Amino acid sequence: MLSSLTPTEVAFVMAGLMQAVPALLWLIGGWVLGDTRRAATQWAAYAAASALSFVFLVAAMQTRDPLQAELSRAAGNISGVLGLMALQRGIWLFTDKPVTHTGHLLALSVVLLTSWFGLDPRIGYVRVGMNSFVLVILTLGMARDLYRYARLSLQLRWPWMLPMPLWLSAAAFAGRGLRALLSPGAVAAEMTTNSGLNIGSSFIYVVLSLSFHAMLMALVIIRLVADLQRLSRHDGLTGLLNRRALEEALALQVRRSRRSGEVFCVLMVDADHFKSINDRFGHAVGDLALKHLSTLLRSHMREIDRLARFGGEEFVVMLPGLALVDALPVAERLRQAIAAAPLPHGEVSMPLSVSVGIAEWGGAHEEPSRLLVRADSALYRAKQRGRDRVASADSDDMDSEFLPV
Ligand code: GH3
Ligand code: MG
Ligand code: MG
Repeated sequence: MLSSLTPTEVAFVMAGLMQAVPALLWLIGGWVLGDTRRAATQWAAYAAASALSFVFLVAAMQTRDPLQAELSRAAGNISGVLGLMALQRGIWLFTDKPVTHTGHLLALSVVLLTSWFGLDPRIGYVRVGMNSFVLVILTLGMARDLYRYARLSLQLRWPWMLPMPLWLSAAAFAGRGLRALLSPGAVAAEMTTNSGLNIGSSFIYVVLSLSFHAMLMALVIIRLVADLQRLSRHDGLTGLLNRRALEEALALQVRRSRRSGEVFCVLMVDADHFKSINDRFGHAVGDLALKHLSTLLRSHMREIDRLARFGGEEFVVMLPGLALVDALPVAERLRQAIAAAPLPHGEVSMPLSVSVGIAEWGGAHEEPSRLLVRADSALYRAKQRGRDRVASADSDDMDSEFLPV
C-alpha cells in the first residue's frame, strides 16, 4: 500500500508523523512540568491537529471523488487553523495572558465560510487565500505576544529572536496566500497533484514546525532557568535578597567604589528579643513578624538600595552614595518606623523593635567581609546599650565586642 503513495503523499505523511511525535512529548512534558500542564496540553493539541490536517490532505489526494477531495482538503485546512489556535492559547496560558475566544471564533467562522464556498474547485483559491490570511494574523499575533514576553518578562537581550519561527511562518503563509490570489489557476492545479511545489512546501513545513517546538522548549527552559536563578538569590519567606545575593551586591559595590570613589554604608538590622516572640506566640507568628519587618524595611528603601535577609531575624541594608553622616538619619528613621508599627495579632498588637549597626566603607583597602564585621560590631554595641537603637562603627570599633561598653 505504501508503495502506491506518490512522493507528495509520502512527504505529507512524513510531515504529519513529524507532528505526532511532539504531540506525545508535550503531553508527557506537561504531566512532568506540573505548572506548565495547561499550556503543554494546548501545544500537544496543536501538534495533533497539525498531524491530522496532513491525514486529511493525503485522504484528499487518495480519493477519486472530487467533492470528497475538496471536503477532505477543507477539513485539513480547518484542522491546521484549529491547531494554530491551540498553539496561541498555550502561549497565552504560559505567559499568563487572559485567554479570549472572540478572535478565534471570528477566525474560525471565516475559515468555515470560505471552506464551504471553496468546495467548488473553481474557487478553491479563495479558500487558500483566506486561510492563509487567517494564519498570517494568528502567527503575527503570537509573534508579537512572545516578543513582548521575551522583552519585558524574560528580559532577553535579543527578544525578537525567540519568535523568529513565527515571523518566518507569517512570511511563508503570506506568500502562499498572495500566490493563491494572484495565480488562482496554478494553485488549484498544484494542490491536487503530485508536484515539486507540494513536496518543497512539506519540507519547509517540517523545518518551521520543528522550529516552533524548539521555540516553545526554549520558552519553557528560559523561564525555568530564570525562576531557578530568582529562587537561588531570594529568601523564601520574605522575598528579599538572600545572603549570597547580598554578598554579590556588596562585592559589586566595592568594585564600583574602588573605581569611582563613591561612598556607601551598610546597616545590620537585628530584631530585638525575637526568640521570646516565637516562645510566646509560636513560630508561625514569628514568621509573620519577619514578613512584617521586611515589608516595613522595604517601604523605606530607595530604588538603588539593596535589602537582604542575612540570617534568621537579621537584615542587611546597603546604601550606595551615602556617607555615615547621611546614613545615620536613614537608620534612625527605619528604627522609629518599626517601633511605631506593631504587628497586629488578633485583638492585640505586638510591639517590635530593632537594633541597628551601621558602618561606612573604609576605602579601597577594605574588603566587604571586613565591612560587615564592623557593622556587626556596631550592632553588638547597640544591643549592649539596651536595644531599640542605632550604633555606628568608627575606627575604634575594630574589636569593640571585646571592649567594655
Ligand atoms: P536579641 O535582642 O539579642 O537579638 O535577641 P533575639 O531573641 O532576637 O536573638 P537570638 O539570636 O537569641 O534569637 C533569634 C531567634 O530568631 C531564634 C530563632 O528561633 C528565631 N528565628 C530565626 N529564624 C527564624 C524564622 O525563619 N522564623 C521564626 N519564626 N523565627 C526565626
Ligand atoms: Mg535578635
Ligand atoms: Mg540575630
